[in-house]
Amino acid sequence: MSTNKLPSQADDFPAWYNEVVKRAELAEHGPAKGSMIIKPHGYAIWELTQRALDDRFKATGHENLYFPLLIPMSLLQQEADHVEGFAPQVAVVTHGGGEKLEEPLAIRPTSEAIIWSTYKRWIQSYRDLPLLYNQWGNVVRWEMRTRLFLRTSEFLWQEGHTAHASADDAMAETLQMLEVYREVAEDVLAIPVFKGRKTPGERFPGAVETYCIEGLMRDAKALQCGTSHFLGQNFAKAYDVTFSNADGEQEHAWATSWGFSTRMVGGTIMAHGDDAGLRLPPAVAPIQVAIVPIHRSDDERAAVMGLAEKLRADLAATGVRVRLDDRSQHRPGYKFAEWELKGVPVRMELGPRDVASDRVVIASRLGGDKEEVAVADVAAGMAARLASVQEALYADALAYRETNTHEITSFEAFASGVEEQGGFWIGAWCGDGACETEISATTKATIRFLPIEPTDPGAACMHCGKPGVDVATWARAY
Ligand SMILES: [Zn+2]
Repeated sequence: MSTNKLPSQADDFPAWYNEVVKRAELAEHGPAKGSMIIKPHGYAIWELTQRALDDRFKATGHENLYFPLLIPMSLLQQEADHVEGFAPQVAVVTHGGGEKLEEPLAIRPTSEAIIWSTYKRWIQSYRDLPLLYNQWGNVVRWEMRTRLFLRTSEFLWQEGHTAHASADDAMAETLQMLEVYREVAEDVLAIPVFKGRKTPGERFPGAVETYCIEGLMRDAKALQCGTSHFLGQNFAKAYDVTFSNADGEQEHAWATSWGFSTRMVGGTIMAHGDDAGLRLPPAVAPIQVAIVPIHRSDDERAAVMGLAEKLRADLAATGVRVRLDDRSQHRPGYKFAEWELKGVPVRMELGPRDVASDRVVIASRLGGDKEEVAVADVAAGMAARLASVQEALYADALAYRETNTHEITSFEAFASGVEEQGGFWIGAWCGDGACETEISATTKATIRFLPIEPTDPGAACMHCGKPGVDVATWARAY
């Protein structure tokens, strides 16, 4: 671990991010351009996020399954908007076993095509519906400008693909999964998010509506944290998926898809980190408590380690993810700095004096005074202590977002404000895609979302002056 100070967030946020990812041993670049090696500390954050999502998918009636990575090109090309949207990003396998393939194979950029071509065989009658399936896997979308976790050619994610007998059922599913994403972002990752609807220009290729959750990072840039798509009957029509309804008539099935990815490991880093490194929400902290023993002589070591091991076992027994850092090659000061950098929510120091008084010193990653706590009370009080760190991180991120969310009073105020301060900017929009494009070209901001239901802004478009038809929230974004 380097002992140099990290670049400060205020001076150079991208440099801070890169150094934290590297020094906290979260990930590094792979040998192929755009690829990423996820290291154990980063992967453990993802695993905990995965579990939080997967438990909620199961609780809402979904099952996991798995489809192949390779998709015949002709299959991918059946839904026109979908193929047009993804064409620039698709990687294609042309050779296998030393020979040119008769038909090239796409490496999945997403799985609607292969899944809906299969659902054709699985759906015959309204009795077969709904299909509530999710897949955990990886996808490849070719990227020229890459950034670890945020934008890489290959990333890990889950993609839910459901089929329904009616538009209402599919819409209810779409919004239910958006709510699941909000819950995981806010309650697990401690990132406050807005729920909203994308403009036609920002929709998923092939979707009728795309809904999203959007968060704000500590450099005042927005991050799309998850998306849930109402696909209408577009994929059922492209892949000829029909069922006989209760009246015996043939209908096309209604579809949703929804995804949440390893990008959110990056989001967690950027929503909470400070100049000393990561600050991990306890719910996804691979190590929630680090115990650092302090001793000089062998006698001291024996006494300190005895108590430290008892503390570790007591905490582990209550379900806390605890690490007793008994590495002899590093001094305590080095260990404190390492656990601080890696975002461990609670650190404990334990020296001979503490053993004598039967107390330990507890420090929070959020700062504040260190506390002395009786050894007997440590394990029982830890759940509440971790919960308070979780809440404080959320409150901190929420206060930051509130400070950085503005009403647009004029186009000029918005243009200079988003340039100088970043943040979310909310104002009336005419609904015209050309106006949206013009604003984006001038300000480098995009419409992050519209309200879930179209909302009359009661004002003229902030840019073109035509009647406003919806309330748009703008930001510069990752
Ligand atoms: Zn306009």
